[in-house]
Amino acid sequence: MRNLYAALNNMEALNNENDHIMVTIRLHGTTRQITINEMIDSGATKDFIDKGFCSKYNIRTTQARTIREVYLADGRPSAMGPITHTAKVPMDIGSHRELAIFQVAKLPNHEVILGMPWLTQHSSRIDWGQGKITFESERCTTWCLKESPTVYAIPEDEAREENLKVEFGVAQSKKDQRVKVKKLDPQAKIPTRGSAQAAGHDLYANESKTIPAQGQEVVRTTISITPPRGTYGRIAPRSGMAVKHQIAVNAGVIDSDYTGEIKVVIANMGNQDYQVKNGDRIAQLITEKIVESDCYKVRTLKNTNTGQQGFGSTGTSKARSARSVPEPSESFNEDRTR
Ligand SMILES: [Zn+2]
Repeated sequence: MRNLYAALNNMEALNNENDHIMVTIRLHGTTRQITINEMIDSGATKDFIDKGFCSKYNIRTTQARTIREVYLADGRPSAMGPITHTAKVPMDIGSHRELAIFQVAKLPNHEVILGMPWLTQHSSRIDWGQGKITFESERCTTWCLKESPTVYAIPEDEAREENLKVEFGVAQSKKDQRVKVKKLDPQAKIPTRGSAQAAGHDLYANESKTIPAQGQEVVRTTISITPPRGTYGRIAPRSGMAVKHQIAVNAGVIDSDYTGEIKVVIANMGNQDYQVKNGDRIAQLITEKIVESDCYKVRTLKNTNTGQQGFGSTGTSKARSARSVPEPSESFNEDRTR
C-alpha cells in the first residue's frame, strides 16, 4: 500500500504570493551547522528536506517504514518522490528551537520546506503579507523559545541567491587549494605571503651564494612542494630584486607531480656580483590554474590576424595592416582533420 501525499504546486511553480514565505533557519547537522533560507508553505502537506542537501551536509537520515509516493495536487506523480527516508534535525528559526522531522525528497528548487505538519504543531501565527511569524502557542513559549517570539521573512529572490552562495561556498571549500610544503632540511623556511592579497609566496634561500655579474647560479630552498591539482607552481622574480639589482629568475615551472627540491635559477643581468645570503627571500612562488589539455596533430591551422609574424608583432602598424587583408583561402584552411 502506498501512502499518498499531495504536495502542492508551490514547490514546482511559485505563482501564489500569499501562502508561502522564505525565512532563515539554522540546521544542526552531525558535523556542522548550516544556515539556509527555507520556505514555509501552507500548501505543502508535509515538511520536506532535499535529499542531495542532506548528503552534502551530513544530515543523518533514517529509512522510513513505508515508501511513499508523492503526488501533485492534480494527481500526477511528482518527481520529488518516492520518499524512502526521514531526517530528524535540530532546527532554529530565530530564537525558536525544535527537533524538526522532515520527509527526505528531491526538491527541485528548495533545500527545506515547512508545510502543514510544522504549521499546526507549533501553531505559529503567520502574517503572510507582512512576512512575519509569531510563535505564541503554549508549546512554543514553554519548549521552543529562547528570546523573541517573532521572526521576519526575507524577500524570496534574496533568499534563493543566498542559498546558492552557501552551496557554492561548500563546493569551493571542498577542494583543497593549498600548496603542500615539505621541509627537506630543519633550517628550511616555509614560503610566506608578503601581504594578505599578495599573488605569490616568497621563497627563502637556505644557503649563501654569490651570483656573478652577467652569470647565473642555482640557489637551494631545501623545500619541496605539491601544488593543488589543476594548478602548477611558477617561480617568478621578486619585483624589488628585478628593479634594484637586475636579478631575473629562469626555469620556473613546478609541475604538480614534481616532488623534488625547489631550486631557484637566479640570473644576474647586472654588472656587479649579487650576494644571496642564507635566509634571503629570493623569488616568489605563484600558484596558477592550468587546463590539462592534450596535443594532437593536424594538417593546417586556422588563420589568425597575427599570422606568422613573430615576437612583438602585435600592436605595431605592420600587424594592423596585415589584419585588414584577409587571406583569400581562409575558408579552406579550417582544420578538417578532427
Ligand atoms: Zn514551537
